[in-house]
Amino acid sequence: MPAIKNFRLALVAEEKLIAERGLTSSLLKQKSDDPTRVFARLELARVAGDQSLAILQQALQAQSAPWLGPVTAHVNSTRQALATARKRVDFLLAQPSWRPDTETIGAAVAMMAQSVDNFSPVIVALSDNAAQADPQFRDGLESAQLTSGMRNIAGQLGAIFIAPVITQRPLTAHEVYAFYKLSGQIEQLYSVIELQLRTYRHRPAFKMALDTVRDQYLDGGLGILKELFAVGRRSGDYGMSANEVITRYGPRMAVIPQLRDLILEEMLHQAEYRNRRAAYFLLAVSILAAAAFAIFVLLMRVIRQRVLRPILDATALFVSLADERFSSAIPIPRYDDEIGAMMRAIHVLKARSLEKIHLEKQREEMIAQLQTLSDTDFLTGLLNRRAFFNQGEQQFGIAQRYRRQLTLILMDVDHFKKVNDQHGHQAGDQVLRVVADLCRRHRRKVDLLARYGGEEFLLMLPEIDLYQGLAVAEKLRSAIDARHFHLDDGAMVKVTASFGVAAFEQDHNLENLIVRADGALYRAKNGGRNTVVTSAQEMDLTRRPVAPLASLSCMTVAPGGE
Ligand code: GH3
Ligand code: MG
Ligand code: MG
Repeated sequence: MPAIKNFRLALVAEEKLIAERGLTSSLLKQKSDDPTRVFARLELARVAGDQSLAILQQALQAQSAPWLGPVTAHVNSTRQALATARKRVDFLLAQPSWRPDTETIGAAVAMMAQSVDNFSPVIVALSDNAAQADPQFRDGLESAQLTSGMRNIAGQLGAIFIAPVITQRPLTAHEVYAFYKLSGQIEQLYSVIELQLRTYRHRPAFKMALDTVRDQYLDGGLGILKELFAVGRRSGDYGMSANEVITRYGPRMAVIPQLRDLILEEMLHQAEYRNRRAAYFLLAVSILAAAAFAIFVLLMRVIRQRVLRPILDATALFVSLADERFSSAIPIPRYDDEIGAMMRAIHVLKARSLEKIHLEKQREEMIAQLQTLSDTDFLTGLLNRRAFFNQGEQQFGIAQRYRRQLTLILMDVDHFKKVNDQHGHQAGDQVLRVVADLCRRHRRKVDLLARYGGEEFLLMLPEIDLYQGLAVAEKLRSAIDARHFHLDDGAMVKVTASFGVAAFEQDHNLENLIVRADGALYRAKNGGRNTVVTSAQEMDLTRRPVAPLASLSCMTVAPGGE
């Protein structure tokens, strides 16, 4: 819209310049008796021209674009050329003995025409700018320009007749040629304009404006000139004054700028309409973009709520399940979708993990129980022979490697067969259990106590030397000896036991140590039973029952000495 408005301002300025040129030309050609009136008329035209140029300059200054520089320069040069031409015209008009002479007038009018020529690049540049802003206006812009051109030629056509009418002389050959040329041009221009405005022809205003130009100017105005031309070719008897020509012809030219203004108005109207449409389009696009953004945000929230968060929760749950932390609650799925299926799967996984852990625990307990069972003698609850060897080997290994003390006591119940024989096997079992209990009470936590065979028991004492072992065995022996065994059938039995004690020395294995203890036991049996015998060679003591530990004496038998 600003581009079209600038273009319109330029066309209006051009029109004013052409009008001033026409008026100047006719005033120069007429000899006026009243110079004041001449100047007053000229001043009016000049003020109109200056004003329109000033308005255009103001409009151009309001904008800032690189291409505007040369345009403003042309406007300035137009004003300069105009000022020079006006000075010349004023000088000529101020001559008191002024006699119009064609050459001088021609030179002055040419100066005026020069200022109009200086202005045409402004029109071209502003038209191009408007066409670039919206190429759809190209036809309209050209039509407006052509209309201006038509007005220009109409002025020149009228000017041809001023001098001949003033002097009532026939037309010169040059004037005839100029008339033919210009009248041909103006008719051609009209045809072109009509053709270019064909898309507007259906509009009553355009149809009327075109018809008015044709009727008022081509038929009316140009008709007047054609009549004058016919007279001017024959004689100089025109039958009217120059003023009459101007008064009759001048107003008919005015319809041409009206068509131009109509075209420009229409373009502005269309530009405004398109601006509005573009604004609506922009608004619609903005609303759509906002709606799309809102939908996007909503979608992101839904995705976050229904996909991302459950996945993060599920990850945390998987991690806690992997770490065997089962306290985290598994959310109940709200939708029957993949996430829901995953949550249900986690539920199942958790249940199975718990079940698996429970089974695992049970299995470990069972293994521990089995281990205990397999290590335990079923009658006495002591270690069995196999378990004794397992654990005893370890203790023996430690003693052997680190040269630690280790003592072994082998015990056998005396004449146990008799108990069985006299009171039955079950009574024998009962006695064996009580003996086992007594043994239990006489050992430390670190000692190994096992049932070695039927009525034979083994006690392994880590960190205990032969003397200390001997004391333990003696204590146990005396405890058994002092014990009265009350049987289920009410009978009371008394038993004794024999002991063989061997301390670790140079034994290369556990079996060797046991053999030495067994040897001592053998000798205890042979020595009369209910006694403790060591296998150590350095000890040569025999102790009969039942003496206090402090004054204990033991029988020592040399290995293999029985
Ligand atoms: P000694 O003083 O020489 O050791 O005589 P003893 O009778 O104790 O020895 P012997 O080896 O002749 O007899 C051991 C008996 O122990 C034979 C067997 O019936 C009995 N016996 C072995 N194991 C058990 C058992 O688990 N329960 C019962 N009630 N008796 C057993
Ligand atoms: Mg025995
Ligand atoms: Mg026995």
